[in-house]
Amino acid sequence: MSGQEVERFTFQAEINQLMSLIINTFYSNKEVFLRELISNASDALDKIRFQSLTDPSVLESKPELEIKIIPDKVNKTLTLIDSGIGMTKSDMVKNLGTIARSGTKNFMEQLQSGSADISMIGQFGVGFYSAYLVADTVIVHSKNNDDEQYIWESSAGGEFTVALDHGEPLGRGTKIVLHMKEDQLDYLDEAKIKGLIKKHSEFIQYPISLLTIKEKEVEEDKEEKVAEESTDAKIEEVEDEPKEKTKKKVEEKEWELLNKTKPIWTRNPSEVSKEDYNAFYKSISNDWEEPLAVKHFSVEGQLEFKAVIFVPKRAPFDLFESKKKHNNIKLYVKRVFIMDNCQDLIPEYLNFVRGIVDSEDLPLNISRETLQQNKILTVIRKNLVKRCLELFGEIAENAEDFKKFYEAFSKNLKLGIHEDTQNREKLADLLRYQTSKSGDELSSFKEYVARMKENQKDIYFITGESKKAVENSPFVEGIKKKGYEVIYMCDPIDEYAVQQLKEYDGHKLVSITKEGLTLDETEEEKKKAEQDKTANEALLKEVKEVLGDKVEKVTLSNRLLNSPCVLVTSEFGWSANMERIMKAQALRDSSMSTYMSSKKTFELNPDHPIVQELRKRCTEKSKTFKDFVYLLYETALLSSGFTLDEPSSFASRIHRMIKLGLSIDDNNTSAAEETTASDDVPPLQEDNETSQMEQVD
Ligand code: ADP
Repeated sequence: MSGQEVERFTFQAEINQLMSLIINTFYSNKEVFLRELISNASDALDKIRFQSLTDPSVLESKPELEIKIIPDKVNKTLTLIDSGIGMTKSDMVKNLGTIARSGTKNFMEQLQSGSADISMIGQFGVGFYSAYLVADTVIVHSKNNDDEQYIWESSAGGEFTVALDHGEPLGRGTKIVLHMKEDQLDYLDEAKIKGLIKKHSEFIQYPISLLTIKEKEVEEDKEEKVAEESTDAKIEEVEDEPKEKTKKKVEEKEWELLNKTKPIWTRNPSEVSKEDYNAFYKSISNDWEEPLAVKHFSVEGQLEFKAVIFVPKRAPFDLFESKKKHNNIKLYVKRVFIMDNCQDLIPEYLNFVRGIVDSEDLPLNISRETLQQNKILTVIRKNLVKRCLELFGEIAENAEDFKKFYEAFSKNLKLGIHEDTQNREKLADLLRYQTSKSGDELSSFKEYVARMKENQKDIYFITGESKKAVENSPFVEGIKKKGYEVIYMCDPIDEYAVQQLKEYDGHKLVSITKEGLTLDETEEEKKKAEQDKTANEALLKEVKEVLGDKVEKVTLSNRLLNSPCVLVTSEFGWSANMERIMKAQALRDSSMSTYMSSKKTFELNPDHPIVQELRKRCTEKSKTFKDFVYLLYETALLSSGFTLDEPSSFASRIHRMIKLGLSIDDNNTSAAEETTASDDVPPLQEDNETSQMEQVD
């Protein structure tokens, strides 16, 4: 690079940190750099091939689509050349150093916490920098059809340069020259490179050739003759003139093709080994691990396509980052790569499935825009979803595999329940939950139904923040006592999924925290319920009067055992858990929560001593009565999973109860304490007896 043309740039801060980390971390598995650079080359080739479908002239600058590798032991360099799309000057500046990538920070955090290692770099979209695992200086020459050829260079240290490249013209594409570190020279070995390509890049769809050096023994003087004469003549000479031989060893350079480029999906599944599938998966996914499951199939008839789909072992770090487009199913038409992130090919909730689809029917020059309305694509999509669900079903046959699958992708299945009406039932079969009978294991709906009590019609569930929170909730105790099993749904997305699911195998899904819970009652129980109703009529009325519009209704409960009361929500409104979830998001839209948050019914347990005692005092219209009702209401809010609107007045009430319990005279309290009691709190009367306190305890 000479003179003024050289421009200096500093690396974006996070990229700079990443580079230091790559250079300074002790990490022995450095070989991944080759896979990353080849994967970038292959992507660049895909891009120009795609452009050429609509405009063949883009290939004129260099017709061959290929990748070349040149090891040079003398100069200690490893060079990779691709005839892909190349980079303009501005591409180089942006892509190789100045624009932050969302994965950079994430990758570093995961590296530091030990949940990722360097070999996973490709997944985070910063694979290029893996070059610095083995090289101390990297030079990138690149030529895009829309610009001159430019040269990028950096020896890390926070900066890079870009300049016009007066060197050997590439025609089109990118040439990366790695100046290898002294201790990494074995990556210049032919055998080593061949092994790595076989291991990591066997299924790249473009020919990868290695410049090899073959030692040949030739006979010196004949060499000249051969050059002049025909091949036939050469053979004759070998036979006729043995005496003249003067042997000499010469080194000849020869390109050697390293990969099979026959697409794996065109082969017969019975002839493809597991290793082949694994290698293919790694080559299309950037994943460092083997896939959890694979399905290779072809569809024939009115419409023809072949596909290979994979389920990864774990979710990528950015699975639910909505801005990020997941390029997980590659679309080919008649063996020609068309596009990467074809979102119309698979619904959002299956965005973790990876693979390829090769259609015989789509036109080669299809564009993203026309693709959207394409009927063929709709049929392919439907078919793919069906096969995905089949594949998940197959995974479910192995408990251990399914556990992994479920940990990674249960959210996707639930999203599917919400979105995919047609496949809701099949998806519901794949759901697993902890229940009041499952212990630490997970249980399917099918297993739940098999365990249902004889007369049980509905499936009971509760939603909440955690298993711990729901299993001890007052709602669960009574239902459990009656011998019913309760499903614990503790993932926020369950709230959304269950709204759509509504029933399983003819059994209604009933939330035990909402109205509309009908439990089977014996004649005796029915009779008792009637009696309770009459006996508590006045109490219910008084309690409603005290609480006003804080609650919609006050009724007796059939779902409680040890708790005096709970707050239930209306059947179609939000549950307490949903209210919690929505409150957490309310910063975004607070008008929604006042509109949607549920009307609450205050349910009292007629058999509970507190309720029985209150019943006796309900006509007194005393402040004590009001205070107790308030306290019961507020504790019910908490135990039913709601939050308190006014925690400080609740606290004041409790404090005054404590004082009563400790027989502290309210007149003696300090000014500081006085201020904590807010004015709108009904005061407790001084003459309250300790017997009342015991009941509250
Ligand atoms: P990723 O490939 O995951 O986007 P990288 O850090 O490997 O991340 O590469 C950054 C960007 O640099 C690529 O997105 C691409 O635009 C560009 N790039 C890298 N290598 C090449 C290449 N061989 N030809 C053209 N562009 C390339």
